[in-house]
Amino acid sequence: MSLLQVQEVSHTYKKNRLFGSSRASAPILSNISLSIDEGVCLGLLGSSGAGKSTLGKVILGLEKPQQGNILFKGHDLYSMNAAARRRLRRDLQVVLQDCYSAVNPSMCAEQIIGEPLSNYMTMSVLEQKRAICELLEMVGLQAADMAKYPHQFSGGQLQRINIAKAIALNPKLIVLDEPISSLDMVNQSQILALLHDLKRSFGLSYLFITHDIKAAYTLSDRLAVMEQGKLVEQFENKDSIFTSSHPAVKLLLQSVLAEHPRERKIKSVRAECRSL
Ligand code: ADP
Ligand code: MG
Repeated sequence: MSLLQVQEVSHTYKKNRLFGSSRASAPILSNISLSIDEGVCLGLLGSSGAGKSTLGKVILGLEKPQQGNILFKGHDLYSMNAAARRRLRRDLQVVLQDCYSAVNPSMCAEQIIGEPLSNYMTMSVLEQKRAICELLEMVGLQAADMAKYPHQFSGGQLQRINIAKAIALNPKLIVLDEPISSLDMVNQSQILALLHDLKRSFGLSYLFITHDIKAAYTLSDRLAVMEQGKLVEQFENKDSIFTSSHPAVKLLLQSVLAEHPRERKIKSVRAECRSL
C-alpha cells in the first residue's frame, strides 16, 4: 500500500463576491490521482498557477477538496476525527518557499525547532535541548545557532532551520513546496544535497513541488507534470521526461533551453540534469 494516495481529487476555490454571496470559479484541481510510496520522492512540476501548491495544501489537510479522497497510511485524511488527524499530522510535514515568513521572527532557532517537540513529545528541558542540537547538526548548523533569531540567518541557513523543524518528529512524508526557489544557486544545490541525504538516512518520502526541471530531476525518483489543474503526465522513469511529446512538458524543457537559446537542445538539458 502506498504511503500517500490522492484519489480523483477536484477542487475549486469559492469566489467571494460583493454583498456576501459566493460563486464557484474555474476548477483549480481536476480529477487528480497520484500515489507516493515510502522512501520515494515524487517531483511535481508545472508552471506558475498550475495548481501545485493547492494540491500540496489538500494533501497536508489544509484545504478540503470538494471531490476525491486523500489517503495517508491508508486513512482518509478528511473523514477522521480531529484527534486522529493530529496524530497523523506528525508524520506529514511541510517546507515552504519563503523561509522567512514560515517562521515567527520573535522566536529563536531553539524555539522554532522545539515547537513540534513540545507539541508532540514529552521531553525534559535538557532532552529537548539535546534533540535540537542533534537536529541542527543534521542540517549542517551548530549548537551555537540555537540562540539566533531568523534575521540573524541567511536564507539558506534559515531554510535549514525549517528543514530541522520538519524532520524533528521523524515524519514519513514532507511536502516541499518550492523549497529552494528563493535561494541563490550555491544554496540551492546545498539544500538539494541536504534533502537528498536526509531522505536516504531516514527513508523519507517527499512531494517535491517545483517549476525547476533540473532540481526536480536531481532529487526525485519519479516525476509528474501539472497544467491548469490537471495532471497531464506521470513518469515512473524520470528519464522519460526528455522524450515526452506533451506540450506542457516541452514548455518546461524549453524554459531551461531559453537560458542559452543558441546552443541548447533537449539533449543538452538531459546531459546537464544528469551531471548535477
Ligand atoms: P502553483 O502553485 O502551481 O503556482 P497555485 O495552487 O498556487 O498554483 O494556484 C493555482 C490557482 O489557484 C491560481 O490561479 C491561483 O490564483 C488560485 N488560488 C490559489 N490560492 C487561492 C485562494 N486561496 N483563493 C482563490 N484562488 C486561489
Ligand atoms: Mg505554488
